[in-house]
Amino acid sequence: MRALLRLGAVFPALAGLAACGAPAPDPAPPPAPAVKPAAAHPRLTADDARKIGADELGRIPVLMYHRLSANPKSVYERTPADFAAELERLAAEHYVPVTVADLTAGRLDLPAGAHPVVLTFDDGDPSVFTLTPQGHPMPGSAIGILFEVAARHPGFRPVASLYVNQRPFGDPDGARTLSWLHQHGFEIGNHTLEHTNLRTVSAAAVQDAIRAEASLIQKAVPGYTPTTLALPYGTHPRQDGLAQHGDGYSYTGVLLVGAGPAPSPYSRRFDPGSIPRIRSQSTGKDADYGSAHWLDELASPSGHRYTSDGDPTVVSYPRSDAALAPSYPKMSLAY
Ligand SMILES: [Zn+2]
Repeated sequence: MRALLRLGAVFPALAGLAACGAPAPDPAPPPAPAVKPAAAHPRLTADDARKIGADELGRIPVLMYHRLSANPKSVYERTPADFAAELERLAAEHYVPVTVADLTAGRLDLPAGAHPVVLTFDDGDPSVFTLTPQGHPMPGSAIGILFEVAARHPGFRPVASLYVNQRPFGDPDGARTLSWLHQHGFEIGNHTLEHTNLRTVSAAAVQDAIRAEASLIQKAVPGYTPTTLALPYGTHPRQDGLAQHGDGYSYTGVLLVGAGPAPSPYSRRFDPGSIPRIRSQSTGKDADYGSAHWLDELASPSGHRYTSDGDPTVVSYPRSDAALAPSYPKMSLAY
């Protein structure tokens, strides 16, 4: 067993920022429907898939971030410069961010040759996201930096999944911050109201902790219900599967804390109830379990990295990789 539970204490954000009164801008209205019918999608052939090097049964990095800090004191903190450099690396290597909800739904609509990456942020820390009084992401925050990198790299979508507790991002009820994130295409996920170690409490308390956070998110963003959950400390409840399905909730994905790339959602190996993540880290103790190491590994010839064929209706993969999940056989293209 690799260091799945190599954990430091992770606490919900303590810092509180005064919420400012300016409302978030309304999102742009959806574009008018196209008047001319779309051209028929040219059919992808095995030759095309081979030329692209498509492997949609390959592995996907789900990166885990907690806080940004100018002076990191633990492996859960990165400097803003290191964070920006990691995003620049991802963009240069043709990664395209998707959310965890996209991943669990198998909704990976990427250009041919691109690789999905999932950016996840736990604990709702203000260094990850706050809004300026004018209603924009704070420059220097993780989400602010994500927008800056995306502006430099067309195609690098500024999306991420943020797993929150009570007082997300220092916002007392989350209404201002979570609404903004939802309106701008970010996923808001459940991380329990009080960051409960679900292994240490009763089945009733597990379900209370999960339902209470879902309720906070639903009040903050009317009409929205979180569909994925990140386990505090990466620990499952003692009752099998209770984090994913319980009284009053059902999640399409449950995230662990460690310690490697996630299988493709089209692969037989994909377990939505235990999706592994990779801690963002380049050097220092345990860097072998960190993102710099894993991104090198995934980019190597034996990295078995997910590479898109560009056609969201087809799952392409080398014939040698015979691990397609039984639920996806109709769309498959082996070469
Ligand atoms: Zn946490």
